[in-house]
Amino acid sequence: MSDLKGRVALVTGGSRGIGAATALRLARDGADVAITYASSPDKAQAVVQSVQALGRRAIAIHADSADADAVTAAVERTVAELGRLDILVNNAGVFSYKPFEQVSREEYTAMMAINVQAPFVAAQAASRHLASGGRIITIGSCLGERVGGPNMALYSASKAAVIGLAKGLAQDLGPRGITSNVVQPGPIDTDMNPADGEGADAQRQGLPLRRYGRSEDIAAMVAHLAGPAGDFITGAVISVDGGFSA
Ligand code: NDP
Repeated sequence: MSDLKGRVALVTGGSRGIGAATALRLARDGADVAITYASSPDKAQAVVQSVQALGRRAIAIHADSADADAVTAAVERTVAELGRLDILVNNAGVFSYKPFEQVSREEYTAMMAINVQAPFVAAQAASRHLASGGRIITIGSCLGERVGGPNMALYSASKAAVIGLAKGLAQDLGPRGITSNVVQPGPIDTDMNPADGEGADAQRQGLPLRRYGRSEDIAAMVAHLAGPAGDFITGAVISVDGGFSA
């Protein structure tokens, strides 16, 4: 497939999990890819090499999503080194599981900076470069709409916020031919939520399909939205969650 030939994508948090699978999938579909990472330089470099092995250009950028200036700089460096920007995937995110009474203001601020401020800032920076046909795809969570259990108020609030952001961007950028959507994963087997981790069996029981998803399942939806099939999809919130929210 080469739907994305000549396009350039930036995937935040592309060193592991869903972001790494997305970077590889977009490259397989023809795009050159920049990824950001915070603490896994070796894994980021491995993703770069895998993309290059597919014949695409790739760069890894150290950019802590908690730092708005670093996020903006990552967008600018993508354009400077890869020549343009067509697809922004706001993927980097952190999870927290804690009784809400015990969440400190510092923890609140840190999570909101990574899960909400960074997608906002990245979209702002990207919008200066995206042309008609541009895409902003934000990875939310099925917990952004249906929390379903205790101790996730902060995380769920952050993932609900990106729905409003994505819909607002759809309104603001639609007249320029740029789409903005949210992909909401359910339980996906990654370091964040391993299929053999504590609580995994309970999550499986809540899944009509009775199994975790793979990072590639999310990457496939991102690729769908990024390609020509996504031309008329904007302001949408799309669950890829094995029926977790059903
Ligand atoms: P992982 O923890 O497996 O990977 C997270 C990725 O994000 C890594 O590449 C990591 O880079 C990067 N990252 C984390 N913090 C930062 C930061 N401060 N700055 C830059 N990069 C950062 O997570 P997943 O792949 O599972 O999750 C990806 C997205 O999907 C997240 O937004 C998450 O909330 C969402 N999601 C995941 C679900 C799941 O079940 N797995 C379910 C629903 C939503 P590094 O290693 O360098 O720190």
